[in-house]
Amino acid sequence: MATKRCYYEVLSLTKSADSDSIKVSYRKLAMQYHPDRNVGNAEAEVLFKEAAEAYEILRDPEKRQRYDRYGHAGMDGMAMPDFGNADSVMDLFGDLFGGVFGGAGKGKGRRGPQAGNDFHLGIEIDLIDAMKGVEKKVKIPRDVNCKACSGNGCKPGSTPVRCKRCDGKGVVIQGNGFFRIQQTCSGCGGKGATITNPCTSCRGAGLIQEHEELVLNIPPGVDDGVNIRHTGSGEASRNGGPPGDLYVQIKVKKHSFFLRNGADLHCEVPVTFSQAALGGEIEIPSLDGKKIKFKLPAGIQSGEEAKVPGKGMPSLRGTRMGDLVLHVRLETPRNLTKRQEELLRELSELDHKHISPHRKSFLEKLKGLFGQSESDSSKDNKES
Ligand SMILES: [Zn+2]
Ligand SMILES: [Zn+2]
Repeated sequence: MATKRCYYEVLSLTKSADSDSIKVSYRKLAMQYHPDRNVGNAEAEVLFKEAAEAYEILRDPEKRQRYDRYGHAGMDGMAMPDFGNADSVMDLFGDLFGGVFGGAGKGKGRRGPQAGNDFHLGIEIDLIDAMKGVEKKVKIPRDVNCKACSGNGCKPGSTPVRCKRCDGKGVVIQGNGFFRIQQTCSGCGGKGATITNPCTSCRGAGLIQEHEELVLNIPPGVDDGVNIRHTGSGEASRNGGPPGDLYVQIKVKKHSFFLRNGADLHCEVPVTFSQAALGGEIEIPSLDGKKIKFKLPAGIQSGEEAKVPGKGMPSLRGTRMGDLVLHVRLETPRNLTKRQEELLRELSELDHKHISPHRKSFLEKLKGLFGQSESDSSKDNKES
């Protein structure tokens, strides 16, 4: 991933910027780079999302303070809202601009209750965990409904009062005739009601941040890059809608010996010259620490592959087990003992008498090359 730009830099602001200038600056950029005005412009889309992310952090005093102190590192693992999701960007946008660009779309508009934000989380696991499946505990900071007020933001015993400005609709229509702009009511922030006696636990927000521990069941066979969705484990909705979802992206660490390719595991097996020639049983370590006995066929060549069926990875869906693919690497002996050298010299004599198929064709090619130049040139002359 490219280095993230500083949020203040993104919005062309200094660190002392007040909330109004943050809003103004974001509004300017959002107008400039809005997808509706830059159809098919990938660069504009990136800048639009970048500005939206910066705005989302800097407009929230708590997140801004955390960012000021720790920078982007402070935001890691905070499970950022999903900005890759056009809907959430549109929702954010809709809050600011009302209906200028024609609503949030997809029936997820401001009229109905909105789902909470999704969380995205990355988890790194070992290859063995990907083979056997694993339980991972994660702590997720997220806004949950305040228990003291059951999420309505009011001190127990009191209730929200219907907003007079919008008559409880949450939106106001401005302008007339052709240009009618629907805007979120500033009196109640779109909730349709105001709180006169706020809950002391959540200061009227209805939500508090908790670090909830979740046990994630990572299934056997999971591959690098797979996204697991936990429905309803995202952020609580701010206006009575369903909670968002949690997406966990799996990163499988590279193994020092086994290389994974889909359901198959690959590894390199060094064999001696005599093992390759004669064949025989060899022992190979398996991923789960056991030893696999494998019968090496006589005459296997360096670079040739041999398969141990069913000793690879399980597949995420279905029952098939992948294979273990052995890549044979012939090790030429070095630092020979006297006896080894004697035997090899003896063997060498025999090799001259019994020429192997590959060497035979190699020698024939050589012969052909030396005898070729004359016949080749005469052939060329005939053709031209
Ligand atoms: Zn409360
Ligand atoms: Zn209102």
